[in-house]
Amino acid sequence: MSKKYDFKPESLMMSHGYKPELSEGSIKSPIFQTSTFVFKNAQEGKAFFEVAYGLREKEASEEVGLIYSRINNPDLEILETRLKLWDNADDCAVFESGMAAISTVLLEFLAPGDVLLYSSPLYGGTDHFIKEFLKKIGIHTISFTPNDTQEDIVKRLKNSGLANKLSMIYIETPANPTNALIDIEMCNEIALRYSSDDKKVYLTVDNTYMGPLWQHPLKHGADLVLYSATKYIGGHSDLIAGACCGNQDVINRVKILRTFLGNMAAPHTGWLLMRSLETLKIRMEQQATNAEQVANYLNEHEKVEKVYYLGLIPEGTSEHKIYKRQYNSPGAMLSFDIQGGEKEAFKFIDNLKLIKLAVSLGGTESLVEHPATMTHAGVAPAFREELSITEKLVRLSIGVENHADLIWDIEQALAKV
Ligand SMILES: *Cc1c(COP(=O)(O)O)cnc(C)c1O
Repeated sequence: MSKKYDFKPESLMMSHGYKPELSEGSIKSPIFQTSTFVFKNAQEGKAFFEVAYGLREKEASEEVGLIYSRINNPDLEILETRLKLWDNADDCAVFESGMAAISTVLLEFLAPGDVLLYSSPLYGGTDHFIKEFLKKIGIHTISFTPNDTQEDIVKRLKNSGLANKLSMIYIETPANPTNALIDIEMCNEIALRYSSDDKKVYLTVDNTYMGPLWQHPLKHGADLVLYSATKYIGGHSDLIAGACCGNQDVINRVKILRTFLGNMAAPHTGWLLMRSLETLKIRMEQQATNAEQVANYLNEHEKVEKVYYLGLIPEGTSEHKIYKRQYNSPGAMLSFDIQGGEKEAFKFIDNLKLIKLAVSLGGTESLVEHPATMTHAGVAPAFREELSITEKLVRLSIGVENHADLIWDIEQALAKV
């Protein structure tokens, strides 16, 4: 084997970044259930703090010393070393929730008076944080939808009179729950256009829906990639966590604010996520295979009006071009319009036997929900219509079950409508 051979991320998820000889030869990392770490001597304690608090640059050969579990902990460090591989990022920071990762990034890179440009619809928690909290601290916001062109967006920025205050562009693609696509490279062009020598406009992508396997935003010009690790990364619907990946400079900033907000993940959560990462690829691939079968079934069903699934985007459209460039799979999230409205949607949902009614996504079990009255109930009704989030829309997160069982379940529930 040549020296330059690189193992694929899925081959490194079992061992990368962990040294068994530091843990009694244990093949798996123990849970370092400890609040603090003993220094060998006072000089070492001083050196560790100098690096942790940014008082001096770390030397090339120097490892960041373990100090206190709010600052660092082996379970989190090993997890971050593995998680960053999927996005080919310099570094990663893990958090106690997706919202903790999102709010920390927004607080670190925005200041009062700045403008945040964001895509709509966003995850409900993010939307609330932007509209309520960021507004309260004097951050201006401008939104756009997947239907807007670059010209539309630039025009809106110019008309606001605040274009020179643009500091961050924040997007979610595909949009939840309709799978509408946003072109990351187009957003990067806008970010570059408004960046200057002394002010960089950061591009942030919430990649929860398609990452870390099927979309790699850093490759398309994003600076920060955010995850609710509660979803595909955790994958078993048994924990809440978040993550942020990017280059060394941005993650250093994110980690410093994390230290002072104290919203890092706990060691046990870090350990669970390492266990999840070992099967990440096979889980997600199985979920995508199942989703394709379900989407094709729904697409042929007489009681289904429309299926929102990346694998069904018509060829030759501009959306298909973005799909081909930005994604390497249609993913495992899909929505569909059932014939009728809320009554028919509820009848279908309440008659499912295997697929469970719950919000969240990306877990091993398939889930169903009704966006208009659940995850997107907080969106203004007129705007919901504009985004195609109507009463007939049903969202599915497809799991790892046998796809024939999923289709049987959907078939019998549709028959009762
Ligand atoms: C779930 C979710 C979040 C929030 O993550 P938590 O782990 O629940 O805090 C953010 N963005 C998207 C797209 C999500 O699906």
